[in-house]
Amino acid sequence: MLTPSPRLQPSYYEAFRCVGSVCEDTCCRGWRVSVDKETFQKYQTCSHANLGPKLRTLVNINPASENDNAHAEIELDRGACPFHADGLCEIQATLGGEMLSKNCATYPRVMATVEGRLERSLDLSCPEAARLALTNSQPIEFAESSGDEDESRLGSIGILDTANSKYPDKPFRYVHEVRSLMISLLQNRGYPLSQRILVLGRLCDKLETEGTDDGCTNLRAIIRQPAPVVPRLSMPAPGRFETVVELILARIGSDSTSRRFLDCYQSFMAGLHWTKDSTMEELAARLDAAFAGPYAVFLAQHQHMLEHYLVSYVFRSLFPFGSQSLNRKLAEYRFAHSISRHYQLMVVDFVVIETLLAGLAAFHGARFGVPEALKLIQSATKTFEHSLSYPGKALDLLIEKGIDGCASMSMLIRD
Ligand code: SF4
Repeated sequence: MLTPSPRLQPSYYEAFRCVGSVCEDTCCRGWRVSVDKETFQKYQTCSHANLGPKLRTLVNINPASENDNAHAEIELDRGACPFHADGLCEIQATLGGEMLSKNCATYPRVMATVEGRLERSLDLSCPEAARLALTNSQPIEFAESSGDEDESRLGSIGILDTANSKYPDKPFRYVHEVRSLMISLLQNRGYPLSQRILVLGRLCDKLETEGTDDGCTNLRAIIRQPAPVVPRLSMPAPGRFETVVELILARIGSDSTSRRFLDCYQSFMAGLHWTKDSTMEELAARLDAAFAGPYAVFLAQHQHMLEHYLVSYVFRSLFPFGSQSLNRKLAEYRFAHSISRHYQLMVVDFVVIETLLAGLAAFHGARFGVPEALKLIQSATKTFEHSLSYPGKALDLLIEKGIDGCASMSMLIRD
C-alpha cells in the first residue's frame, strides 16, 4: 500500500549504498536474522531446486514472537547466516531482492513514525552508515520532505504516538519540540560536549518531574542559560574505570560478541598495558594519561564524531521516550521505561565508547585516526544496542553501585 507521508531524515540518509562484498563487516553475522510472516510464507512455496528446500529447513517459526515482522528466524551456522556466501546473499542473488525479509531488505535503514511523521535514519552498526553519519565535521542537518511510502517494504517501524499511547504522563506531550530541543543542545558547540551531556541530564530530570504542560518553557530556560552549570557528583578515577569496564564485561560475558569488537577491546587492554598484575589504580592512571595525550590530539580534530554519535542515537532511538523494542527489552528485565532510564542507557553507551576510544588511542599512538574510531563505534553499536539483555543488565549494575537517576550519571562523565 502506498501512503503519502511527511518525512524527516538526516541529510546523509539518501546517500547510503550497501558496499556488499567489500564491506569490512557484514550484517549477516553476529545477531539473529528475523523473517517476517509474508516472506516466510513465500519461502514455503519457493520452487527453486536448491534454495526452496534450504529455505524450508533453515527458516523456522519463532514461537516466542508476537510480532509479524519477527515471525520466523534463520537458523545460524556458527553465528553466521547460512545464505551468506563470498560476501553475497544467496537469496538476493538467486531469487531477487523481493524475496528478502523486510528486515534484510531495509537494513541499515531504521524507520519510525513519530506523531504521524515518518522518521528515517541509519543504524550505525553498519560500517558504511557509520562512515556517512560520523565523518562530516559540520553538525548533522535534518531534511523534511514528503513522499509515497510503500509500507509493505518498510520493515519494522517504531511508533511513538502520544495521542493514542498508553503513556498518559505529562512528559509525553510536545514530542517533536522536546526532541528538537535536545538535538539542538547536543549540537551547541559553544559548550564542551561533556557539559552538553550533563545539561541533557538536567532536561531529562525536568521532563520526568515537571512534564511539558508549559509548552517546554522550562526546558528552553535551562538551555538558554548563558553558561549552564550542572552540579556534578564525583567518583574516584579507579572506581569510574572499574565501573565502565564492568559495563563492558556485562555485555561481553553474555550474548555472543563480534570479532571486530573483541579486536578493539584487546587493543584497548594492550593500550593500557593491562596484565594480570595490573591494579585498578594503575589502569585508571594510564587511561587518564591517554585522555590527556593521544586521545586529546584525536579529539581536537574529530570531536564532531562523538557529537554525531549522540545526535544519531537520540534521533534513531526515539530518545528520550524510547523505541518500542528498547522499552520491550527493559520490561523483560522488570524495568519500567522512563526518561531517566533512557538517559542512563545513552550515557552508558557513550562512556563505554569514549573509554575504549581513549585506550585505542594509547594503543595506536600517532596512527590513531578516523578508521580506528569508526571501527570501534560501529562494532560497539552492533554489540551493545542490538543485545536483548544488555540494557537491563547495565541498569542493574548501575543500581548495584548506587548510580540511579540522571544526576548520578555525572559520576561517569569526564570533563
Ligand atoms: S553491514 Fe552495511 S555495507 Fe555491510 S553488507 Fe550490511 S548493509 Fe552492506
